[in-house]
Amino acid sequence: MLDKTIIEKLEMLVGKENVLTSKVDMVAYSYDATADMPHQLPDVVVMPTSSEMVQQIVHLARANKIAIYPRGAGSNLSGGTIPLKKGIVLSFQRMNKILDIDPANLTAVVQPGVVIAALNSAVAEFGLIYPPDPGTVATATMGGSAAENSGGLRGLKYGVTKNYIMGMEVVLANGEKVRFGGKTVKNVTAYDFSNLFVGSEGTLGITTELTCKLIPAPKYRRTMIGIFSTLEDAGNAVAGIIAAQVIPATLEIMDNKTIRTVEAFANIGLPVEAKAMLLCEVDGMSQDLIATEAEAVIEVFKKNNCEYKTANSDVERDQLWAARRNALPALASLNNTCIVEDATVPRSRITEMLVACEKIATKHNVTIGTFGHAGDGNLHPTILYDMYDKAETARVHEAIDEIFATALALDGTLSGEHGIGMAKMKYLGNELGQSGLNLMKCIKESLDPEYMLNPGKMVPLKEV
Ligand SMILES: Cc1cc2nc3c(=O)[nH]c(=O)nc-3n(C[C@H](O)[C@H](O)[C@H](O)COP(=O)(O)OP(=O)(O)OC[C@H]3O[C@@H](n4cnc5c(N)ncnc54)[C@H](O)[C@@H]3O)c2cc1C
Repeated sequence: MLDKTIIEKLEMLVGKENVLTSKVDMVAYSYDATADMPHQLPDVVVMPTSSEMVQQIVHLARANKIAIYPRGAGSNLSGGTIPLKKGIVLSFQRMNKILDIDPANLTAVVQPGVVIAALNSAVAEFGLIYPPDPGTVATATMGGSAAENSGGLRGLKYGVTKNYIMGMEVVLANGEKVRFGGKTVKNVTAYDFSNLFVGSEGTLGITTELTCKLIPAPKYRRTMIGIFSTLEDAGNAVAGIIAAQVIPATLEIMDNKTIRTVEAFANIGLPVEAKAMLLCEVDGMSQDLIATEAEAVIEVFKKNNCEYKTANSDVERDQLWAARRNALPALASLNNTCIVEDATVPRSRITEMLVACEKIATKHNVTIGTFGHAGDGNLHPTILYDMYDKAETARVHEAIDEIFATALALDGTLSGEHGIGMAKMKYLGNELGQSGLNLMKCIKESLDPEYMLNPGKMVPLKEV
C-alpha cells in the first residue's frame, strides 16, 4: 500500500483525473490477456499525458523505491503487464496522439498510446501502411507492440515491428530522457538503440515517442487456400513456395483440430477430414507480377497433392479468410482456459513441429489445436483446458514444457512474437545458456540497477 502522500504527489504531477486508486480499477489492471498467470493488484494507475510527466513519475518512484509497470492495451500473451510487485501501473492510454505523418520521408511520429489500427487509418489517405499487424491491431498500442516486438500475419514478407521503428524517445530508469534515430533511412550513429529497446518489454526504459517507417500500400492481391491430406504435404508446400522464390504477404496454416473446431464454431463449409489447410496471399504493385506469383503458388500446391481454391472477388477472399480469423475464438470457446504459445522453428522444420504438437497432445492427454504463421515457422499451439481441474492443469504444463523443448531441439526459439514476460522466463536458460542469462542481467542492471522497471519480467528478480 502506497503512502497517501505519494498518491497526492502523483495527482499533483499528472492531475487528479489521471490517477486511479479505486479497488475496481486496481482489479482491472491486475491481469492482462495471458491465461494461467497470477493476478496482482497495483497500488495506483497513472495516466500521463506528456513525456515530462513520465520523467517526473520516474523520479518520484525512484526516490521512493516503487516499481513501475508500463502498459498499453494489456493484450500481450506473456504476462508482461501484470504488476507483480504492486506499485505504479503507467498506462499510456492518454498519450495517444499521432504527432506527424510525413509522406515524403515515409514516416510517422506517434505517442506510445496510439492504437496500431488508428495509425493505419490515418496514413491510408496517403496511400501508405504501417505493416506490423498482430491479431490485436484494433486495440494494441504502438508502445506495447514495440516493447513486445510484435509480428503478425504479414511478417513473412514485411517483417516485424523492429523493422519499422526508426527512432524513439525513451525515459530511462534514472529519469533522463534520451532520443535516438529519426527520419533518416540510414543511421549508424552509436549503438543501435532502437533494436535494444524494441522487444525489451518495458524492462529497460519507458517509450514516450516512436518514429516509424511506412510503406506504399500494395495495390493488388490474390488469395488462395490449399487443403492437404497429410501434414508432410502441407509442410513441403510451405518450403516449396519459398523455394519457388515467391514471398507471400501471408502464409498461414491450420491443423485438423483447428479446422474441425472452426467448422463446428462458424459452420463455413471447411473440409473437416483435411490434415491441414494453408491460406496464402500474395500482394504487390503489379497485377502481372501477382498473377505470376499466384500461378507459382498453385503449381506448388498441385505438386504437393492438395485441393486448392482461389478467391475471385473480395467477397470470396473474405470467405477464405473467415477460417483463419475464427481460429482463435473457436479454439478458445472449447474450455475455460486458453493458452496461446508461439514456439517457432526454422520453416524447413515446420512439419516436424506440427507432428510433434499432435504427439504431445496425445501423450499428455490434452487438447491442442495448432495454427499460425507457417511461412515464418511461427506456430501457435493453442492449449484448451479446465483450469479448475488440477490433474489436467499439471498435464498441460508438462505438455508446454515439451513443446518448448521440441522447438529448441529443432533449432527454433521460445518466442516468435509474444515475448518472454513472466510466462517463459523459466525456459530462457535453455535457449541462451548461462552466459546469455548473464548478458541479459548485465544489460538490465546497467540501465535499471534497482529493477524498478517492470520487475519480474524477462530477467529474474534481483536476489537481495
Ligand atoms: C487474441 C490475440 C491475438 C494476438 N495476435 C498476435 C499476433 O498475431 N502477433 C503478435 O506479435 N502478437 C499478438 N498478440 C499479442 C499482443 O497483441 C501484442 O503483443 C501487442 O502488440 C501488445 O500491445 P499492447 O498495447 O496490448 O501492449 P501491452 O500488453 O500493454 O504491453 C506489452 C509489453 O510492453 C510494455 N509496454 C507497454 N507500453 C510501453 C511503453 N510505452 N514503454 C515501454 N514498455 C511498454 C509492457 O510493460 C509489456 O511488457 C495477440 C494477443 C491476443 C490477445
